[in-house]
Amino acid sequence: MTKYVYDFAEGGRDLNDLLGGKGGNLAEMAGMGLPVPPGFTITTDACRAYLRTGREPYGLADEVELHLERLEEQAGRRFGDPDDPLLVSVRSGAKFSMPGMMETVLNVGLTDATVAGLAARTGDEDFAQDCYRRLIQMYGRTVCGIPGDAFDSAGSSVQRHKAIFRQYTGHEFPQEPREQLDTAVRAVFDSWNADRAVLYRRQERIPSSLGTAVNVVAMVFGNLGADSGTGVAFTRDPATGERGVYGDYLADAQGEDVVAGIRNTMPLQDLEQRDQASYDELMSIMSTLEEHYKDLCDIEFTIERGKLWMLQTRVGKRTAAAAFVIATHLVDEGVIDLDEALSRVTGTQLAQLMFPAFDLSGGAPRIATGVAASPGAAVGAAVFDSHRAAEIAASGTPVILVRRETNPDDLPGMIAAQGILTSRGGKTSHAAVVARGMGKTCVCGAEELEVDLDKGQFTTNGHVVSEGDVISIDGTAGAVYLGTVPVQPSPVVRYFEGEIAPDADPLIRAVDRILRHADDRRRLAVRANADTGADAARARRFGAQGIGLCRTEHMFLGDRRTLVERLILARTPQQREAALAELLPWQRADFTELFREMTGRPVTIRLIDPPLHEFLPPLEDLAVRVARAEERGEDPGHDRDLLDAVHRMHEDNPMLGLRGVRLGLVIPGLFAMQVRAVAEAAALVPGSRAEIMVPLVGAVQELETVRDEAQRLLAEIGVDARIGTMIEVPRAALTAGQIARAADFFSFGTNDLTQMGWGFSRDDVEGAFFGRYLELGIFGVSPFESIDRDGVGRLIRIAVAEGRAARPDLHIGVCGEHGGDPDSVHFFHEVGLDYVSCSPFRVPVARLEAGRAAVESTGSDTR
Ligand code: PEP
Ligand code: MG
Repeated sequence: MTKYVYDFAEGGRDLNDLLGGKGGNLAEMAGMGLPVPPGFTITTDACRAYLRTGREPYGLADEVELHLERLEEQAGRRFGDPDDPLLVSVRSGAKFSMPGMMETVLNVGLTDATVAGLAARTGDEDFAQDCYRRLIQMYGRTVCGIPGDAFDSAGSSVQRHKAIFRQYTGHEFPQEPREQLDTAVRAVFDSWNADRAVLYRRQERIPSSLGTAVNVVAMVFGNLGADSGTGVAFTRDPATGERGVYGDYLADAQGEDVVAGIRNTMPLQDLEQRDQASYDELMSIMSTLEEHYKDLCDIEFTIERGKLWMLQTRVGKRTAAAAFVIATHLVDEGVIDLDEALSRVTGTQLAQLMFPAFDLSGGAPRIATGVAASPGAAVGAAVFDSHRAAEIAASGTPVILVRRETNPDDLPGMIAAQGILTSRGGKTSHAAVVARGMGKTCVCGAEELEVDLDKGQFTTNGHVVSEGDVISIDGTAGAVYLGTVPVQPSPVVRYFEGEIAPDADPLIRAVDRILRHADDRRRLAVRANADTGADAARARRFGAQGIGLCRTEHMFLGDRRTLVERLILARTPQQREAALAELLPWQRADFTELFREMTGRPVTIRLIDPPLHEFLPPLEDLAVRVARAEERGEDPGHDRDLLDAVHRMHEDNPMLGLRGVRLGLVIPGLFAMQVRAVAEAAALVPGSRAEIMVPLVGAVQELETVRDEAQRLLAEIGVDARIGTMIEVPRAALTAGQIARAADFFSFGTNDLTQMGWGFSRDDVEGAFFGRYLELGIFGVSPFESIDRDGVGRLIRIAVAEGRAARPDLHIGVCGEHGGDPDSVHFFHEVGLDYVSCSPFRVPVARLEAGRAAVESTGSDTR
């Protein structure tokens, strides 16, 4: 029979799948002999069974009974005992932390009969009544769906709380402790599917199939007077990664009060003056935890009348900067090795560090200062309501969500906003924790702000900011500015650019060290997609080992548009040849510049790809110009020719029409001009390594025709270049064995391969139906962003296997957008590509992820 309940003594963090993060880690701490109140965990299995069938699984009730008895023994109190009642908390706890997204009910077990017993035990009648009130309210809201503000008018009267409960539910507040417990457990299960939890999971890419565990823990009270309290702490600073304990403490309060950010806390260090013994014990426990977890831990604790209790720990969330700094500090401290350090940072974090920061040289007016809760620079219109923020952001206006404090209902606005600003709460408040998790800029606890939600404005130091007024917030410095502050490149980008030394500060040192290690470890080479000398130069500074895609059509824009128009309008072979001859020197100069920037490194030049009418003005503009000219009795001349050409070349499905290799086969001399330009440029630059790439090939014959002509030209000019093809049409992937015989290399064009593999247009779908598809879980993330392993990925696997079988020395890479996406880089490593190519800014991300992929796969090989 499935076991649904684990006592803390039976579990451990290796069971996090079953017990959730909170339950697994409570059990882990209990096993380490740390002071954890007794309790048990109901597994995620039970939750999944409940969510599937709508009923608690068979046997769960008996198991809970058994564990409740054990809990009573350990606590030395009985559930429902009128003289000395055991009270429990019922808390959610999923495998991946979802701060505040699900439900908690405290003080379960209080009834009319037991409340007097609690008063007698604690000697504090007011306290017992306060606990009872909190229970009725929390239980009413969580289990019975009573609106949060319904109890606002009830004051401190238990009777009035009970009356409101009765009014909303039609029945009395339950007086059976076991009934309270069972319904609270069920409410926690149900909260897995609450809107905000679903939204949070989608945002954080947490699978909705996991379910939550439920922890039932003997209550301890931080609100029993001045010698009690509650706090949250980190073993290192979660914002900067610097060594040293960091935390907040609230005397005479319950845990929820700290996380909710409702009252301003005091720094943890002040606890030392209030209660030296508890402080010392806490410090010693925190260092034990760090040693045990070998990482930054965050904890929640409560002191009940001088006795310290640990209520939670986990490997703590941290900013991107802190992740790099902590990982290298742990290496220096001998706790982990460099491979482990590399696996503890992500490409997404590195990308965050490359965001711009504010340029304050213009003397922007700072109007308030708060806690630097989550780094970054965000500018937007102040909006004071979460739903309004989501609406305004959806209309394209960047917003900053301003609240006194946030709660889980604010999630839609937090996701939509550029940044979050609150007037209350510390680094551990809901706003701070959630923003850090999302990598979103956040300043919290800016106490100078007087936020008036009804009026939709805040005032601070004589300034009034109303909805729609632009503000700028700096989550690295905790500063709030009026108006738009200009942004400047991040220090990490300046380091890549060579403007800052690798040992400039702890963060740059950490990034430099970890990236160098990633370079040592990775098997995938990293190239860049670049079309200009400036892009190529930047790509090289960012560590690119070559160019994996130069889109030559980008060189046909700007001044050269008229030359392309001439080519398109050519009516005779002579006119066409003349137009091509004019284009040749431009192209040669472009390629020369690229080869110079990338001397010694491969440069893949792709022959022209898009439909040619993309180079002509839009049909509507031309039609209007021609009509106007005719109205005035003038000859529309050139415009008339262009309009005729646009009509002639019209295609209903241009992305499936005359583009790519088809252009080369239909327009005489076009590809030849480009190949000649490549060859002549290569001949001019010693050390150049040209690769010529043919787009949109679907059949080997297409490639052979282009290749044969290209080889003739190369031989004529006396230049050696590899000739290969994009694999971006599903047929190419499926006939890769044939195509490989005519190709020196493959490069996966995953943008088109995704478009044609799924059969949806890469230009139109995102707004049309992707939202619904994400909601339905058809995919967890857009397949244009992260590679669809099952479908498009399978085409890639087939092409790699059959291509290499036909030609073992086939060189294979990818140059679609996926080449710089962290998850996709791991996939490309797994399937054995030789390189990825991505935009210059993503090159460092790809280097890091390729290193991580290599370390991960070595780990699994040796296991
Ligand atoms: C691709 O299709 O993935 C690709 C790199 O080519 P483009 O985006 O230019 O079509
Ligand atoms: Mg393409």
